[in-house]
Amino acid sequence: MTNDNDISISQLQRMVDDWITGIGHGYFSPLTNMAVLAEETGEVARQMSRIYGDQTFKEGEAPNLADELADVLWVVTAIANQTGVDLTDALRKNIEKKTRRDLHRHENRGPGNNDNSNKI
Ligand SMILES: [Mg+2]
Repeated sequence: MTNDNDISISQLQRMVDDWITGIGHGYFSPLTNMAVLAEETGEVARQMSRIYGDQTFKEGEAPNLADELADVLWVVTAIANQTGVDLTDALRKNIEKKTRRDLHRHENRGPGNNDNSNKI
């Protein structure tokens, strides 16, 4: 599942930091990056609504979900860097939390079974 082109999470954090402190001439404030994250999340939603939903692309537009997801990952990484979050450690702890919490939660949920009628 890994290959020579893989980027580890710690490498990602260093790459983003190197880019921002070099080419980018420094970090935006955390609050600005939070606004950028909301903006980029909206751009992912725009792609999803056009690729999987009922919306359509304007003439000349092309699907680019991968790039928009990368934008979200970029700004999440920037926020982690500037707030001292080690994303490798955070992700490990997050997966452990989800496993403890949800170990049996989805057992009765078959593939493609999105029937939520019992929750109304
Ligand atoms: Mg974008």
